Amino acid sequence: MKMPGNGAPYDIAFAGTGLAALSLAVRLAALPHPPRMVLVDPRREPVRDRTWCHWQLHETPFDSAITHRWHHWTVRNSTAGTAAPAAARTPYVRIPADQLHHLAMEKLGACPGAEFIRGTSVTSIENHTDYAVLHLSDGRRLASDWVFDSRPPEHHQAPWHQIFRGLELHSPEARLDTGTVTLMDFQSAGPAGVRFFYVLPLDAHTALVEDTWLVPSGQSPDFSDAEILAYAATNLGSAAWQIRHREEGHLPMGLSPSAPSAAKSKNRVILWGTPAGAIRPSSGYAFSRIQRASTRMAQAWRKHGRPAAQSAHDSPLLAWMDRVFLRAMTRRPERVPEYFTRLFNRVPPDALVRFLESEPRPTDILQVMSVLPPAPFLAAAFR
Ligand SMILES: Cc1cc2nc3c(=O)[nH]c(=O)nc-3n(C[C@H](O)[C@H](O)[C@H](O)COP(=O)(O)OP(=O)(O)OC[C@H]3O[C@@H](n4cnc5c(N)ncnc54)[C@H](O)[C@@H]3O)c2cc1C
Repeated sequence: MKMPGNGAPYDIAFAGTGLAALSLAVRLAALPHPPRMVLVDPRREPVRDRTWCHWQLHETPFDSAITHRWHHWTVRNSTAGTAAPAAARTPYVRIPADQLHHLAMEKLGACPGAEFIRGTSVTSIENHTDYAVLHLSDGRRLASDWVFDSRPPEHHQAPWHQIFRGLELHSPEARLDTGTVTLMDFQSAGPAGVRFFYVLPLDAHTALVEDTWLVPSGQSPDFSDAEILAYAATNLGSAAWQIRHREEGHLPMGLSPSAPSAAKSKNRVILWGTPAGAIRPSSGYAFSRIQRASTRMAQAWRKHGRPAAQSAHDSPLLAWMDRVFLRAMTRRPERVPEYFTRLFNRVPPDALVRFLESEPRPTDILQVMSVLPPAPFLAAAFR
């Protein structure tokens, strides 16, 4: 191994090549003088293990991988009423993971300084003053000036978890409304958690149907394909669904971002993506937050030739609101459907979209606060 001291073979090494690493790498590759990059991941091939949806407030390098755009969405709650389908200027869009990976590899393939190492895990990272060393499972060691570490964190570090199973279902006899996404169709979840179904209509006969649970740390729901099929039979206009594809997720909600600031600590290892708090605690959405953080980081590299100190994904006010939300959910999980129904019924869609995408204007925050019931949120705020 060529040892550092102004001689590490790479400017940047990525431990993990999921959404966060690729989002930054493609932006760096597009710079006039891209850094020398190495990207390490145990996966050998891109897989469609997830579907990324987000409200498209801004362009991203992955827009050509968007397969669907919806302008209407709804939230349903049997006890607190049904939110009418809402439409905002910004569409809700879908990108399948394999298509994003292929597009990213195409962009990185055109960059001579980008190298992939696949089928190998990073087992540990050694941090030095001027460089860092990745230890790989095949015994290799790689020195790099900087490391972006987006390996998944331990789940138990978060107080709440979003756990879901999705089935892509197809039925020739179905006639789905392809214009409206069901973001949340709340179901009874018992005392400990929150449960809803999420339905993305992909065409008149095909939908991704997800059974989603929000549960406190240590609990795990019992999933069954049969329950998802039963939901589809009752709600989607056909009893004969074939399963075409499946995806599962387990997202930490409220993981405290423990990323040390690169500039302040001179730490050469920068936590990135999920371990750096990219997942919004109150919703599980991360796509747009990762895009914004990647744009900021690439701009800093272009300007200074080194990473910027990581800034928080949320303003202190938004972070506080999410903490209060999690506390209110801990006290009375059964009221969560009512909170979301109020938000989707009463906050104008464009304002709510900016809030959900972590880019609220001050007036959006006031609108959100004004529609939530004060008692449980004040109790949670002043706990
Ligand atoms: C099924 C699913 C659906 C989701 N849907 C949405 C959505 O619709 N909208 C949204 O905003 N967010 C969504 N999310 C949340 C979030 O956007 C994703 O989790 C996103 O992939 C996070 O990016 P990441 O880079 O932090 O992690 P990942 O994309 O999970 O990347 C981590 C990478 O690290 C690699 N890795 C693991 N161990 C090692 C190791 N030892 N060495 C090297 N590499 C390693 C993994 O193979 C992986 O490639 C979803 C998450 C899941 C799981």
